[in-house]
Amino acid sequence: MRNRFYAPALLLAISLSALTSTTFADEWKSGIKWEEPKVVVPGENGSAPSDAIVLFDGKDLSAWNQGENWIIEDGYAISNKSGIESKQKFGDIQLHLEWASPAEVKGTGQGRGNSGVYFMGRYEVQILDSYKNATYFDGQAASIYKQTPPLVNATRGPGKWQTYDIIFNAPKFDDAGKLAQPGFITVLHNGVVVQNQFQMLGGTFWDQPPHYQKHAAKESISLQFHGNPVRFRNIWVRELKPVVGVLPKEEAKTDAVVNKP
Ligand code: MG
Repeated sequence: MRNRFYAPALLLAISLSALTSTTFADEWKSGIKWEEPKVVVPGENGSAPSDAIVLFDGKDLSAWNQGENWIIEDGYAISNKSGIESKQKFGDIQLHLEWASPAEVKGTGQGRGNSGVYFMGRYEVQILDSYKNATYFDGQAASIYKQTPPLVNATRGPGKWQTYDIIFNAPKFDDAGKLAQPGFITVLHNGVVVQNQFQMLGGTFWDQPPHYQKHAAKESISLQFHGNPVRFRNIWVRELKPVVGVLPKEEAKTDAVVNKP
């Protein structure tokens, strides 16, 4: 009978000990005075959050150069004649866009529902109808073109709307033009992580190995026209800036800024 009482007594002792250590421990605080994070009203079902810059809301492509080349109907835009590039330039961003390859399947491999979203005009996340469509893996949908395939193929069938949610961290260059920090990219395709903070090897090219070339801290986003009528809708971006904190003098020799913008 002894064991019947032993176990609860032991549990009580452990609980009391945990409670004691919780009660009398000193709370650790970093001492950093953080700025208050701004309030953002989230969107519903992929719609733009309150602080987003809307690049296409289904009505017009006035936020894009060469936007007049594309066809707008029924709340979406169809790629046509040329690529388009955002008039506004961006560095680190979150991008949301929705795309659909043609419902009628034509062509094979890279010729089937090909488009692409280029960050800073030179780093392409491939858009392709990769639903049961063989091509080179580092050229299929959601690949970083000729740098890495997606982790998995999350492509929906031809004609179906698909989402890309992309976090892009721009590369940085020093004054001499040398790469100081590579670019990084995370991609969710239809809600599935397909690029997990991939370190980019440079610009994405069809006829050259990837390499970096110095460019401005902010550049346009481009959408490719590759001969196929790919549809787009609901395109918005959010500029990403680090939240800033200050470590006050009593904690450090001088005020120290944490997470410099
Ligand atoms: Mg492409």
